Amino acid sequence: MVHLLLLFVSSAAVLFFVLLCLEKRKNSRMEATKRRFADLAETPQSASFVLIYRQIQQMLQKEREDVALLNAQQNNLMTIFDNLGEAFFIISGDGKIEFANKSARSLSNKELKGRKVTEGIENYYIGDLLDETMKTNEAQESEITMYYPKRSIRDCKVIPIFLKEQTKYLILLRDLTKEKELEAMRRDFVANVSHELRTPLTSIHGYAETLAEDDLEDKTTVKRFLQIIENESARMSRLINDLLDLEKLESGDASFKMEEVELKDIADYVMGIVEPLAIEREVTLSTDIEDGLFVEGDSDRLVQLLLNLVDNAVKYTAAKEHGPREVWIRIYAHNNFAIIEIEDSGVGIPEESLKHIFERFYRVDKARSRKMGGTGLGLAITRFIVEKHKGNISLESEYGTGTIFKVKLPLKKVFK
Ligand code: ADP
Repeated sequence: MVHLLLLFVSSAAVLFFVLLCLEKRKNSRMEATKRRFADLAETPQSASFVLIYRQIQQMLQKEREDVALLNAQQNNLMTIFDNLGEAFFIISGDGKIEFANKSARSLSNKELKGRKVTEGIENYYIGDLLDETMKTNEAQESEITMYYPKRSIRDCKVIPIFLKEQTKYLILLRDLTKEKELEAMRRDFVANVSHELRTPLTSIHGYAETLAEDDLEDKTTVKRFLQIIENESARMSRLINDLLDLEKLESGDASFKMEEVELKDIADYVMGIVEPLAIEREVTLSTDIEDGLFVEGDSDRLVQLLLNLVDNAVKYTAAKEHGPREVWIRIYAHNNFAIIEIEDSGVGIPEESLKHIFERFYRVDKARSRKMGGTGLGLAITRFIVEKHKGNISLESEYGTGTIFKVKLPLKKVFK
Protein backbone atom coordinates (compact mmCIF):
# COMPACT_ATOMS: atom_id res chain seq x y z
CA MET A 1 0.00 0.00 0.00
CA VAL A 2 2.82 2.34 1.00
CA HIS A 3 4.56 1.32 -2.21
CA LEU A 4 1.61 2.21 -4.24
CA LEU A 5 1.33 5.61 -2.55
CA LEU A 6 5.02 6.29 -3.12
CA LEU A 7 4.72 5.34 -6.80
CA PHE A 8 1.75 7.63 -7.18
CA VAL A 9 3.49 10.59 -5.48
CA SER A 10 6.66 10.18 -7.48
CA SER A 11 4.73 9.86 -10.77
CA ALA A 12 2.78 12.96 -9.89
CA ALA A 13 6.01 14.77 -9.05
CA VAL A 14 7.58 13.76 -12.39
CA LEU A 15 4.45 14.83 -14.26
CA PHE A 16 4.37 18.08 -12.40
CA PHE A 17 8.03 18.62 -13.16
CA VAL A 18 7.48 17.91 -16.88
CA LEU A 19 4.48 20.23 -16.91
CA LEU A 20 6.54 22.92 -15.23
CA CYS A 21 9.26 22.52 -17.79
CA LEU A 22 6.79 22.71 -20.67
CA GLU A 23 5.11 25.81 -19.22
CA LYS A 24 8.53 27.43 -18.77
CA ARG A 25 9.46 26.65 -22.35
CA LYS A 26 6.11 27.95 -23.58
CA ASN A 27 6.56 31.12 -21.58
CA SER A 28 10.06 31.70 -22.79
CA ARG A 29 8.93 31.05 -26.39
CA MET A 30 6.06 33.48 -25.91
CA GLU A 31 8.51 35.97 -24.43
CA ALA A 32 10.86 35.47 -27.38
CA THR A 33 8.00 35.89 -29.86
CA LYS A 34 6.77 38.91 -27.98
CA ARG A 35 10.29 40.32 -28.00
CA ARG A 36 10.61 39.69 -31.72
CA PHE A 37 7.22 41.28 -32.45
CA ALA A 38 7.94 44.10 -30.06
CA ASP A 39 11.27 44.73 -31.82
CA LEU A 40 9.49 44.54 -35.16
CA ALA A 41 6.85 47.02 -34.10
CA GLU A 42 9.46 49.10 -32.28
CA THR A 43 7.43 48.88 -29.08
CA PRO A 44 8.73 48.43 -25.49
CA GLN A 45 8.88 44.74 -24.70
CA SER A 46 6.87 45.35 -21.55
CA ALA A 47 3.84 46.36 -23.68
CA SER A 48 0.89 44.05 -23.81
CA PHE A 49 0.43 41.53 -26.64
CA VAL A 50 -2.73 43.32 -27.82
CA LEU A 51 -0.86 46.58 -28.27
CA ILE A 52 1.93 44.89 -30.17
CA TYR A 53 -0.60 43.00 -32.28
CA ARG A 54 -2.37 46.27 -33.18
CA GLN A 55 0.86 47.92 -34.09
CA ILE A 56 1.82 45.02 -36.32
CA GLN A 57 -1.58 45.22 -37.99
CA GLN A 58 -0.96 48.91 -38.67
CA MET A 59 2.47 48.11 -40.07
CA LEU A 60 1.03 45.48 -42.38
CA GLN A 61 -1.70 47.87 -43.52
CA LYS A 62 0.90 50.54 -44.28
CA GLU A 63 2.98 47.99 -46.12
CA ARG A 64 -0.05 47.01 -48.24
CA GLU A 65 -0.70 50.70 -49.01
CA ASP A 66 2.95 51.29 -49.95
CA VAL A 67 2.91 48.28 -52.27
CA ALA A 68 -0.36 49.52 -53.85
CA LEU A 69 1.19 52.98 -54.31
CA LEU A 70 4.32 51.48 -55.87
CA ASN A 71 2.16 49.39 -58.18
CA ALA A 72 0.16 52.46 -59.20
CA GLN A 73 3.36 54.43 -59.79
CA GLN A 74 4.78 51.58 -61.86
CA ASN A 75 1.54 51.43 -63.87
CA ASN A 76 1.63 55.19 -64.41
CA LEU A 77 5.20 54.96 -65.58
CA MET A 78 4.33 52.14 -67.96
CA THR A 79 1.38 54.17 -69.32
CA ILE A 80 3.71 57.13 -69.87
CA PHE A 81 6.31 54.88 -71.56
CA ASP A 82 3.60 53.25 -73.62
CA ASN A 83 2.30 56.57 -74.88
CA LEU A 84 5.62 58.26 -75.53
CA GLY A 85 5.76 59.50 -79.12
CA GLU A 86 9.16 57.93 -79.67
CA ALA A 87 9.49 54.17 -80.07
CA PHE A 88 11.46 52.27 -77.48
CA PHE A 89 12.16 48.67 -76.50
CA ILE A 90 13.58 47.01 -73.40
CA ILE A 91 15.69 44.02 -74.34
CA SER A 92 16.77 41.30 -71.93
CA GLY A 93 20.29 39.91 -71.76
CA ASP A 94 19.43 37.09 -74.20
CA GLY A 95 18.42 39.61 -76.89
CA LYS A 96 14.66 39.11 -76.54
CA ILE A 97 12.12 41.91 -76.38
CA GLU A 98 10.75 42.36 -72.86
CA PHE A 99 8.78 45.51 -73.48
CA ALA A 100 7.86 47.54 -76.57
CA ASN A 101 5.83 50.70 -76.22
CA LYS A 102 2.91 51.60 -78.52
CA SER A 103 5.08 53.49 -81.05
CA ALA A 104 7.51 50.57 -81.12
CA ARG A 105 4.69 48.07 -81.60
CA SER A 106 3.43 50.10 -84.59
CA LEU A 107 6.71 49.32 -86.38
CA SER A 108 5.84 45.67 -86.75
CA ASN A 109 2.85 43.52 -87.62
CA LYS A 110 4.02 40.76 -85.25
CA GLU A 111 3.66 40.18 -81.51
CA LEU A 112 6.96 41.57 -80.22
CA LYS A 113 7.18 40.40 -76.61
CA GLY A 114 9.51 37.43 -76.24
CA ARG A 115 10.85 37.67 -79.81
CA LYS A 116 14.39 38.45 -80.86
CA VAL A 117 14.63 42.05 -82.13
CA THR A 118 15.60 41.00 -85.63
CA GLU A 119 12.63 38.60 -85.80
CA GLY A 120 10.20 41.30 -84.68
CA ILE A 121 11.49 44.31 -86.58
CA GLU A 122 12.51 44.05 -90.19
CA ASN A 123 15.71 46.00 -89.96
CA TYR A 124 18.92 44.05 -89.59
CA TYR A 125 20.84 47.22 -88.74
CA ILE A 126 19.09 47.49 -85.34
CA GLY A 127 20.20 43.91 -84.64
CA ASP A 128 23.79 44.83 -85.58
CA LEU A 129 23.75 47.81 -83.21
CA LEU A 130 22.35 45.63 -80.41
CA ASP A 131 25.04 42.97 -81.00
CA GLU A 132 27.73 45.63 -80.93
CA THR A 133 26.36 47.09 -77.67
CA MET A 134 26.27 43.61 -76.11
CA LYS A 135 29.84 42.97 -77.20
CA THR A 136 31.34 46.28 -76.11
CA ASN A 137 28.97 47.23 -73.29
CA GLU A 138 28.95 50.71 -74.79
CA ALA A 139 26.01 52.66 -76.20
CA GLN A 140 25.73 52.66 -80.01
CA GLU A 141 23.94 55.14 -82.25
CA SER A 142 23.22 55.39 -85.96
CA GLU A 143 20.74 56.81 -88.47
CA ILE A 144 18.61 54.12 -90.08
CA THR A 145 15.81 53.93 -92.63
CA MET A 146 12.75 51.84 -91.87
CA TYR A 147 10.07 50.77 -94.32
CA TYR A 148 7.20 49.52 -92.14
CA PRO A 149 4.41 50.77 -91.91
CA LYS A 150 5.84 53.50 -94.19
CA ARG A 151 9.27 54.85 -94.96
CA SER A 152 10.80 56.72 -92.05
CA ILE A 153 14.26 57.92 -91.12
CA ARG A 154 15.16 57.27 -87.47
CA ASP A 155 17.94 57.87 -85.04
CA CYS A 156 18.57 54.46 -83.43
CA LYS A 157 20.27 54.43 -80.03
CA VAL A 158 21.07 51.25 -78.10
CA ILE A 159 22.01 51.82 -74.45
CA PRO A 160 23.16 49.12 -72.00
CA ILE A 161 21.59 49.30 -68.55
CA PHE A 162 23.67 47.60 -65.90
CA LEU A 163 21.38 46.08 -63.27
CA LYS A 164 22.50 44.03 -60.24
CA GLU A 165 21.38 40.68 -61.56
CA GLN A 166 21.87 41.23 -65.31
CA THR A 167 22.38 43.76 -68.10
CA LYS A 168 19.40 44.94 -70.12
CA TYR A 169 19.34 47.08 -73.23
CA LEU A 170 17.24 50.05 -74.21
CA ILE A 171 16.60 50.65 -77.91
CA LEU A 172 15.32 54.13 -78.77
CA LEU A 173 14.10 54.95 -82.28
CA ARG A 174 13.59 58.71 -82.70
CA ASP A 175 11.65 59.67 -85.83
CA LEU A 176 13.65 62.19 -87.88
CA THR A 177 11.50 62.08 -91.03
CA LYS A 178 9.84 65.49 -90.49
CA GLU A 179 13.12 67.13 -89.45
CA LYS A 180 14.81 65.76 -92.56
CA GLU A 181 11.98 66.98 -94.79
CA LEU A 182 12.15 70.46 -93.26
CA GLU A 183 15.89 70.48 -93.69
CA ALA A 184 15.51 69.53 -97.36
CA MET A 185 12.84 72.23 -97.80
CA ARG A 186 15.11 74.83 -96.23
CA ARG A 187 17.98 73.78 -98.50
CA ASP A 188 15.66 73.94 -101.53
CA PHE A 189 14.45 77.34 -100.45
CA VAL A 190 17.95 78.78 -100.09
CA ALA A 191 18.93 77.27 -103.44
CA ASN A 192 15.80 78.74 -105.07
CA VAL A 193 16.30 82.20 -103.62
CA SER A 194 19.96 82.25 -104.63
CA HIS A 195 19.01 81.15 -108.13
CA GLU A 196 16.22 83.72 -108.41
CA LEU A 197 18.53 86.53 -107.31
CA ARG A 198 21.48 85.38 -109.37
CA THR A 199 19.56 85.53 -112.67
CA PRO A 200 18.68 89.24 -112.58
CA LEU A 201 22.02 90.09 -110.99
CA THR A 202 23.91 88.36 -113.82
CA SER A 203 21.92 90.25 -116.38
CA ILE A 204 22.35 93.62 -114.60
CA HIS A 205 26.07 92.97 -114.27
CA GLY A 206 26.39 91.94 -117.94
CA TYR A 207 24.57 94.96 -119.37
CA ALA A 208 26.25 97.42 -116.99
CA GLU A 209 29.65 96.01 -117.99
CA THR A 210 28.88 96.38 -121.69
CA LEU A 211 27.71 99.94 -121.14
CA ALA A 212 30.88 100.78 -119.21
CA GLU A 213 33.39 99.09 -121.52
CA ASP A 214 32.04 99.48 -125.02
CA ASP A 215 31.89 102.84 -126.56
CA LEU A 216 28.24 102.64 -127.54
CA GLU A 217 27.20 105.37 -129.83
CA ASP A 218 23.80 104.03 -130.71
CA LYS A 219 21.50 105.79 -128.26
CA THR A 220 18.66 103.31 -128.80
CA THR A 221 20.88 100.39 -127.77
CA VAL A 222 22.06 102.28 -124.69
CA LYS A 223 18.45 103.03 -123.78
CA ARG A 224 17.45 99.41 -124.30
CA PHE A 225 20.26 98.18 -122.06
CA LEU A 226 19.37 100.72 -119.37
CA GLN A 227 15.73 99.63 -119.61
CA ILE A 228 16.75 96.00 -119.05
CA ILE A 229 18.84 97.01 -116.03
CA GLU A 230 15.90 98.93 -114.63
CA ASN A 231 13.46 96.04 -115.19
CA GLU A 232 15.77 93.48 -113.66
CA SER A 233 16.51 95.58 -110.58
CA ALA A 234 12.77 96.24 -110.17
CA ARG A 235 12.15 92.49 -110.34
CA MET A 236 14.83 91.87 -107.74
CA SER A 237 13.29 94.30 -105.33
CA ARG A 238 9.82 92.78 -106.00
CA LEU A 239 11.26 89.38 -105.24
CA ILE A 240 12.82 90.58 -101.99
CA ASN A 241 9.59 92.33 -100.98
CA ASP A 242 7.54 89.20 -101.71
CA LEU A 243 10.00 87.05 -99.78
CA LEU A 244 9.91 89.35 -96.78
CA ASP A 245 6.12 89.47 -96.97
CA LEU A 246 5.80 85.68 -97.13
CA GLU A 247 8.24 85.32 -94.25
CA LYS A 248 6.21 87.81 -92.21
CA LEU A 249 2.98 85.96 -93.00
CA GLU A 250 4.37 82.51 -92.22
CA SER A 251 6.10 83.51 -89.00
CA GLY A 252 2.85 85.09 -87.77
CA ASP A 253 4.47 88.53 -87.53
CA ALA A 254 2.08 90.08 -90.04
CA SER A 255 -0.81 91.58 -88.16
CA PHE A 256 -4.22 91.46 -89.81
CA LYS A 257 -6.52 94.39 -89.05
CA MET A 258 -9.82 92.53 -89.18
CA GLU A 259 -12.95 94.57 -89.81
CA GLU A 260 -16.17 94.34 -91.77
CA VAL A 261 -15.22 94.79 -95.40
CA GLU A 262 -17.52 95.05 -98.40
CA LEU A 263 -16.10 92.98 -101.23
CA LYS A 264 -17.45 95.39 -103.87
CA ASP A 265 -15.17 98.13 -102.47
CA ILE A 266 -12.19 95.78 -102.74
CA ALA A 267 -13.09 94.81 -106.31
CA ASP A 268 -13.56 98.46 -107.37
CA TYR A 269 -10.18 99.39 -105.96
CA VAL A 270 -8.47 96.48 -107.73
CA MET A 271 -10.22 97.27 -111.02
CA GLY A 272 -8.86 100.81 -110.79
CA ILE A 273 -5.33 99.41 -110.73
CA VAL A 274 -5.71 96.61 -113.27
CA GLU A 275 -7.87 98.26 -115.94
CA PRO A 276 -5.10 100.39 -117.50
CA LEU A 277 -2.87 97.29 -117.60
CA ALA A 278 -5.63 95.26 -119.27
CA ILE A 279 -6.23 97.97 -121.86
CA GLU A 280 -2.51 98.14 -122.57
CA ARG A 281 -2.40 94.37 -123.05
CA GLU A 282 -5.62 94.26 -125.05
CA VAL A 283 -7.46 92.10 -122.56
CA THR A 284 -11.19 92.69 -121.94
CA LEU A 285 -12.17 92.83 -118.27
CA SER A 286 -15.80 92.03 -117.36
CA THR A 287 -17.25 92.15 -113.87
CA ASP A 288 -20.38 90.79 -112.22
CA ILE A 289 -20.20 91.82 -108.57
CA GLU A 290 -23.01 91.56 -106.02
CA ASP A 291 -23.50 94.57 -103.76
CA GLY A 292 -23.65 94.37 -99.97
CA LEU A 293 -21.53 91.26 -99.37
CA PHE A 294 -19.45 91.78 -96.22
CA VAL A 295 -16.66 89.60 -94.90
CA GLU A 296 -14.49 89.89 -91.80
CA GLY A 297 -11.11 90.80 -93.23
CA ASP A 298 -8.10 93.02 -93.60
CA SER A 299 -8.85 95.28 -96.57
CA ASP A 300 -5.21 95.77 -97.61
CA ARG A 301 -4.65 91.99 -97.61
CA LEU A 302 -7.92 91.39 -99.49
CA VAL A 303 -6.80 93.89 -102.14
CA GLN A 304 -3.46 92.06 -102.36
CA LEU A 305 -5.28 88.73 -102.76
CA LEU A 306 -7.59 89.90 -105.53
CA LEU A 307 -4.88 91.92 -107.26
CA ASN A 308 -2.56 88.88 -107.43
CA LEU A 309 -5.28 86.75 -109.02
CA VAL A 310 -6.59 89.37 -111.48
CA ASP A 311 -3.07 90.47 -112.40
CA ASN A 312 -2.14 86.84 -113.15
CA ALA A 313 -5.34 86.37 -115.17
CA VAL A 314 -4.54 89.42 -117.32
CA LYS A 315 -0.84 88.51 -117.63
CA TYR A 316 -1.41 84.89 -118.63
CA THR A 317 -4.22 85.85 -121.01
CA ALA A 318 -2.08 88.47 -122.71
CA ALA A 319 0.61 85.79 -123.08
CA LYS A 320 -1.69 83.82 -125.37
CA GLU A 321 -0.95 84.48 -129.00
CA HIS A 322 -4.28 83.49 -130.50
CA GLY A 323 -7.88 83.33 -129.41
CA PRO A 324 -10.07 85.51 -127.19
CA ARG A 325 -8.42 87.67 -124.53
CA GLU A 326 -10.99 87.91 -121.80
CA VAL A 327 -11.06 88.00 -118.01
CA TRP A 328 -14.22 87.79 -115.87
CA ILE A 329 -14.48 88.72 -112.21
CA ARG A 330 -17.56 87.46 -110.38
CA ILE A 331 -18.45 87.93 -106.71
CA TYR A 332 -21.61 86.35 -105.31
CA ALA A 333 -23.05 84.73 -102.17
CA HIS A 334 -23.57 80.98 -101.83
CA ASN A 335 -24.46 79.06 -98.62
CA ASN A 336 -23.09 81.61 -96.13
CA PHE A 337 -19.95 82.08 -98.20
CA ALA A 338 -18.80 84.87 -100.45
CA ILE A 339 -17.44 83.40 -103.68
CA ILE A 340 -14.86 85.29 -105.69
CA GLU A 341 -14.27 83.85 -109.16
CA ILE A 342 -11.59 85.00 -111.54
CA GLU A 343 -11.88 83.35 -114.91
CA ASP A 344 -9.62 83.90 -117.89
CA SER A 345 -9.25 82.67 -121.43
CA GLY A 346 -5.46 82.53 -121.07
CA VAL A 347 -2.74 79.96 -121.56
CA GLY A 348 -4.16 77.57 -118.92
CA ILE A 349 -2.25 75.26 -116.60
CA PRO A 350 -1.34 71.66 -117.47
CA GLU A 351 -2.97 69.02 -115.28
CA GLU A 352 0.31 67.81 -113.73
CA SER A 353 1.13 71.35 -112.54
CA LEU A 354 -2.15 71.94 -110.72
CA LYS A 355 -1.05 70.33 -107.46
CA HIS A 356 2.14 72.43 -107.31
CA ILE A 357 0.69 75.77 -108.29
CA PHE A 358 0.60 77.25 -104.74
CA GLU A 359 4.17 76.19 -103.91
CA ARG A 360 6.77 78.90 -103.57
CA PHE A 361 8.69 79.55 -106.78
CA TYR A 362 6.68 77.00 -108.74
CA ARG A 363 6.07 78.20 -112.27
CA VAL A 364 4.71 76.35 -115.27
CA ASP A 365 6.99 78.22 -117.61
CA LYS A 366 9.90 79.80 -115.73
CA ALA A 367 11.19 81.83 -118.64
CA ARG A 368 7.75 83.27 -119.45
CA SER A 369 7.01 84.15 -115.81
CA ARG A 370 10.38 85.85 -115.48
CA LYS A 371 9.90 87.74 -118.72
CA MET A 372 6.62 89.05 -117.33
CA GLY A 373 8.28 90.15 -114.11
CA GLY A 374 6.81 87.33 -111.98
CA THR A 375 8.45 86.17 -108.76
CA GLY A 376 6.72 82.78 -108.41
CA LEU A 377 5.61 83.77 -104.91
CA GLY A 378 2.28 85.46 -105.67
CA LEU A 379 0.06 82.39 -105.30
CA ALA A 380 1.86 81.19 -102.14
CA ILE A 381 1.11 84.60 -100.58
CA THR A 382 -2.47 84.54 -101.92
CA ARG A 383 -3.20 81.15 -100.40
CA PHE A 384 -1.83 82.29 -97.07
CA ILE A 385 -4.06 85.37 -97.06
CA VAL A 386 -7.11 83.24 -97.92
CA GLU A 387 -6.37 80.84 -95.07
CA LYS A 388 -5.89 83.72 -92.64
CA HIS A 389 -9.45 84.73 -93.56
CA LYS A 390 -10.67 81.19 -92.79
CA GLY A 391 -11.42 80.62 -96.45
CA ASN A 392 -10.16 78.33 -99.13
CA ILE A 393 -8.88 78.65 -102.69
CA SER A 394 -9.21 76.19 -105.56
CA LEU A 395 -8.77 76.24 -109.31
CA GLU A 396 -9.81 74.55 -112.49
CA SER A 397 -7.86 74.87 -115.65
CA GLU A 398 -7.60 73.54 -119.15
CA TYR A 399 -4.24 73.88 -120.78
CA GLY A 400 -4.48 76.24 -123.74
CA THR A 401 -8.07 77.28 -122.96
CA GLY A 402 -8.16 79.12 -119.65
CA THR A 403 -8.28 79.02 -115.87
CA ILE A 404 -10.78 79.73 -113.08
CA PHE A 405 -9.58 80.55 -109.57
CA LYS A 406 -12.28 80.32 -106.91
CA VAL A 407 -11.93 81.87 -103.44
CA LYS A 408 -14.49 81.03 -100.75
CA LEU A 409 -14.67 83.34 -97.73
CA PRO A 410 -17.11 83.10 -94.79
CA LEU A 411 -19.81 85.75 -95.20
CA LYS A 412 -20.10 88.15 -92.29
CA LYS A 413 -23.33 89.76 -93.45
CA VAL A 414 -25.37 90.61 -96.52
CA PHE A 415 -26.64 94.14 -96.63
CA LYS A 416 -29.03 95.06 -99.42
P1 ADP B 1 4.27 84.44 -110.92
O1 ADP B 1 4.92 85.60 -110.28
O2 ADP B 1 5.21 83.60 -111.71
O3 ADP B 1 3.03 84.79 -111.66
P2 ADP B 1 2.49 83.12 -109.10
O4 ADP B 1 2.78 82.49 -107.81
O5 ADP B 1 1.51 84.23 -109.12
O6 ADP B 1 3.88 83.53 -109.68
O7 ADP B 1 1.98 81.98 -110.08
C1 ADP B 1 2.72 80.77 -110.16
C2 ADP B 1 2.59 80.17 -111.55
O8 ADP B 1 1.25 79.75 -111.75
C3 ADP B 1 2.85 81.11 -112.68
O9 ADP B 1 4.23 81.17 -112.97
C4 ADP B 1 2.06 80.48 -113.80
O10 ADP B 1 2.82 79.46 -114.39
C5 ADP B 1 0.87 79.87 -113.11
N1 ADP B 1 -0.34 80.72 -113.17
C6 ADP B 1 -0.85 81.50 -112.18
N2 ADP B 1 -2.00 82.08 -112.58
C7 ADP B 1 -2.24 81.65 -113.82
C8 ADP B 1 -3.29 81.88 -114.78
N3 ADP B 1 -4.31 82.67 -114.50
N4 ADP B 1 -3.19 81.26 -115.97
C9 ADP B 1 -2.16 80.45 -116.26
N5 ADP B 1 -1.15 80.18 -115.41
C10 ADP B 1 -1.18 80.78 -114.20
